[in-house]
Amino acid sequence: METKLIGSKTAEQWEKEFPVLAETAALREVFWINPRYKKGNVELNCFGVSPADMDDASQRLDRFAPFIAKAFPETAKDKGIIESPLKEIPKMLEFLQKEKGADIHGRLLIKLDSQLPISGSIKARGGIYEVLAHAEKLALEKGMLKESDSYDVLLEDSFHDFFSTRELAVGSTGNLGLSIGIMGAKLGLKTTVHMSADARQWKKDLLRSKGVTVVEYEADYSKAVEEGRKLAGPACHFVDDENSKTLFLGYSVAALRLQKQLEAMKIPVDTEHPLFVYLPCGVGGGPGGVTYGIKRVFGNAAHCFFAEPTHAPCMLLGLVTGLQDKVSVGDFCIDNKTCADGLAVGRPSSFVGKVMDTFLSGEVTVSDEQMYRLVYKLADLEDLWVEPSATAGFMGPPGLGSKAGKAWLEERFSASEINNATHLVWATGGSMVPAGEMQKYYETGKSYI
Ligand SMILES: *Cc1c(COP(=O)(O)O)cnc(C)c1O
Repeated sequence: METKLIGSKTAEQWEKEFPVLAETAALREVFWINPRYKKGNVELNCFGVSPADMDDASQRLDRFAPFIAKAFPETAKDKGIIESPLKEIPKMLEFLQKEKGADIHGRLLIKLDSQLPISGSIKARGGIYEVLAHAEKLALEKGMLKESDSYDVLLEDSFHDFFSTRELAVGSTGNLGLSIGIMGAKLGLKTTVHMSADARQWKKDLLRSKGVTVVEYEADYSKAVEEGRKLAGPACHFVDDENSKTLFLGYSVAALRLQKQLEAMKIPVDTEHPLFVYLPCGVGGGPGGVTYGIKRVFGNAAHCFFAEPTHAPCMLLGLVTGLQDKVSVGDFCIDNKTCADGLAVGRPSSFVGKVMDTFLSGEVTVSDEQMYRLVYKLADLEDLWVEPSATAGFMGPPGLGSKAGKAWLEERFSASEINNATHLVWATGGSMVPAGEMQKYYETGKSYI
């Protein structure tokens, strides 16, 4: 009988060599330390991205601020800068310490990308940025715009008419489609969103109400992307979530903003005050871009961990095997079925995986039940309402409280450094979820307590 090879080995051989893969294939929650994490200075000029590109992205978002402030009045109070609050959550900290054995001696913060204006998820960073970058390029090439202009001119009919002759498309499980669709439609671009089977009805309805063409697939995210990419003609700009450096750079700008927010809260981050950041991961662009930015800003003082559903741990498989996008969850007989919107991804980004290979400190995987339960607890204790995927990072601190986690901490940090640490859970989405759906998440979580 012929056995299927994953790279050069069978699943059985992989699982024997890396016990974490056996645990992962058995759908258990795991905590994994990245053995290739690079101590010392990481190489920031890598795989076609650089700190200069990140600054460029930040400046582009500043140029667009006058346009955004007018086009989306809810952003006017922040002068058109799309940003989310950073908040300390002491009651949640107590809950994690008591019930989940989290080894947190410092403080616990939440980054509320769930409340990002315009599209209510982390995709409002990268997704919207890529649409803006594309629109700017078109308008500059056409000679309609100069970088020194006030970009609120983009709201004029002449721009709308011009953009309506240009096509934009994306494949998505939902949240990226929302960001691309809402911004694409606002500019007037002819926008098509290819939605995977798990995408929620309300997202499709909302996009259609804005004039976006929604194409539905019965297959998963990878298929929606593949079909979308195939159907996009040469004149169409396809936002390629699996490979886009533009998306990645849009996400990375978050770190520059985070640095300012921490300063304003007088929370130090340095070798004596380490920062641990926990980020939900789908294809990898969002958490990867943020991690890149964080390593640039804070260097070795910061450690980033990804959190993935036990049913869709694609980045973990890519990193452990080193096969990146040459491995999928299906290869390990994992079904890619999860309640976590945005995280139901079977194959990771190859580009992001290569960068994360030395940047990322580790990963945790989280069950659907756990995510629902955390939705309930966060709402009850802190009155913060997020979608299930946005809670995955909360299992990071308990990971550090496990035996392996403790050993890792104690090897690297003194007792006082551990006491001085800041733990930051990145809550990636939620404010666009209709109230009825949110109530269902809450009730489901409550039933699991
Ligand atoms: C997309 C998404 C993520 C992860 O981003 P990737 O770029 O796919 O890794 C996390 N949380 C939510 C709510 C998302 O929509």
